[in-house]
Amino acid sequence: MLAKFVFFAKSIFMIEILSGNEAIAQALLESNVRFASAYPGTPSSEILRYGLYLKSKYNLNAYIEWSINEKVALEEALSASFTGIDSAFFCKQVGLNVALDPLMSASLVGTQGAFVVVAADDPGPYSSQTEQDSRMLALFAKIPVFDPSDIKEAYDFSKKAVELSRTYKLPVMLRTTTRISHGRQNIVVQDNIENITLNAEFKKDPARFAATPKLRFILHKKLNEKLFSIASKNSLKFDFFGNILLVSSGLVYSNLYELIQEHKLQDKVTLAKADMPYPLPNIDLSRFEKAIAIEETYPLIELQLNLQGRRNNIVPKEGELSMDVCEQILYNIGVLDSFVPVNIDFKDKPPSLCPGCAHRSAFFEIKQVYSDAIFAGDIGCYTLGVNLGVTDTVFCMGASVSFAFGFDKAFKLSDKNQHVVAIIGDSTFFHTGLSALIDAIHNNAAFLLVILDNSTVAMTGNQKTLSSPVNSLGEAVKPISIEKIVRNLDIGFLEIVDPYDFKKSIEVLKQSKDYIEKNSSIAVIIFRHLCVNTDEGLKNNPIIKVFVDNDCKGCKLCIDEFECQSLIFNEDTKQVEIDRKTCIDCAQCIYSCPFGSIKVLK
Ligand code: SF4
Ligand code: SF4
Repeated sequence: MLAKFVFFAKSIFMIEILSGNEAIAQALLESNVRFASAYPGTPSSEILRYGLYLKSKYNLNAYIEWSINEKVALEEALSASFTGIDSAFFCKQVGLNVALDPLMSASLVGTQGAFVVVAADDPGPYSSQTEQDSRMLALFAKIPVFDPSDIKEAYDFSKKAVELSRTYKLPVMLRTTTRISHGRQNIVVQDNIENITLNAEFKKDPARFAATPKLRFILHKKLNEKLFSIASKNSLKFDFFGNILLVSSGLVYSNLYELIQEHKLQDKVTLAKADMPYPLPNIDLSRFEKAIAIEETYPLIELQLNLQGRRNNIVPKEGELSMDVCEQILYNIGVLDSFVPVNIDFKDKPPSLCPGCAHRSAFFEIKQVYSDAIFAGDIGCYTLGVNLGVTDTVFCMGASVSFAFGFDKAFKLSDKNQHVVAIIGDSTFFHTGLSALIDAIHNNAAFLLVILDNSTVAMTGNQKTLSSPVNSLGEAVKPISIEKIVRNLDIGFLEIVDPYDFKKSIEVLKQSKDYIEKNSSIAVIIFRHLCVNTDEGLKNNPIIKVFVDNDCKGCKLCIDEFECQSLIFNEDTKQVEIDRKTCIDCAQCIYSCPFGSIKVLK
């Protein structure tokens, strides 16, 4: 939101209230980054989205787009940087695991234009399958990493990352965490981002870009020299003047700074901040009585400077280092005299699929036919199939298909019959499910693969999928058809059905079961229905009003088995009723009452 204009010398700046993710995109484009790719993932998704907004707003000659997965996204942006175009890649922390393979080589080979990797971590975690620290992957890949402690620093450090990458021709990481990515702050930004002349050139250098193992050794040596040079210019910033040293980075630094001021601990502790927590130089900290690293989530600074911290159990080994956790640490190390733990009684309401979500209908139907199956789930909204008892495993993107393969083979080795169902979303299928499916087909596996196709990446903000005929800016692109891919893989059973069609869905599921049993082969069902959480999906959704009749027995089977949030149990009447404020009149719940008490309103 535009607040006001500010004049500095000849340039005009303006103040905008930006989220951390928006500030990062703003800073990168202001720094002439003109190629950016990503795969959606909370808490990083808004970086690319805001980049797209800025590209449109300033009519920039830039390529900014979602990619099929993080590995591909990183490689696309990295190769653009080889031509001298300043580039960037964005991901959430688990996405960086997917992209780690090319990143490990990228540090050795180096870049030509700038190449910035933005990894958004999720301490807690709040929306991820792991709690990990991307700064450690920066150390592992041997690339410098900035760790902003507020949104202004996210903006400033993004610019510094571009400069550092340009100077050393090395990928540079900017690590954020959920609260930095999603927090908001007034930021002074340029009032305009101008187009620049792009002149891509690729200077062939096989000793670098196609280096053999022997040459990689030389590249490794050069990389170490770069890191030594960067570390020698890196330092800590010291505040306050106590005998106990606390070293920190990122948001935890801000928490500690605030607590030290609030409790007037300035003469008890010294607070040191690492803007760039890797690579750090050797720093003599022997003048302090005690030196403790307090950082989120792994002991990166602690290990480099050999400080106390997680390894001495001073800092909790898991979870977010929120204000109250930091306060507890200060109390535990004896600099705070008292500490009152914050006890907030959060209502433990598990997340649930949206009312009217077609995934719920599909899960309910699958359960009717494959009641004895092992359900290998995947990453997306449909992870919530766990609430309906239709998700037994959730690991990482695409693992549903490879897990189904492994389960099938393991039971066959044991001469046991076991139905296995892999359940994956459309975007996750493209991401990494497809390669697992090819392997499973090639190796004669037998299971049902359910592809839940709602034509969007719903969980991360409704980004487009590869089946879309337009890109994120509405320009025509080639839509990729899931069914064409599956057909070309010689799958003998492929059906496409709308899970809102209960009878047809049950019929198709039964046919798939027969097919798998008779042919010991893979069957694929694409359950296709637009996400009701999109304008288009809601607009096109059938509207059929239902009500719960007075003969409701109050058995709660509908709530337990179908789990729509709009079905609520009235403790006074001991019957189920429909919450009209949230119900979208999809009528999907009528199949969940075995007594026919949920009826269509005529
Ligand atoms: S609507 Fe049907 S399933 Fe739900 S509580 Fe009433 S009788 Fe039971
Ligand atoms: S009609 Fe039934 S299933 Fe659909 S949103 Fe309303 S309560 Fe939920």
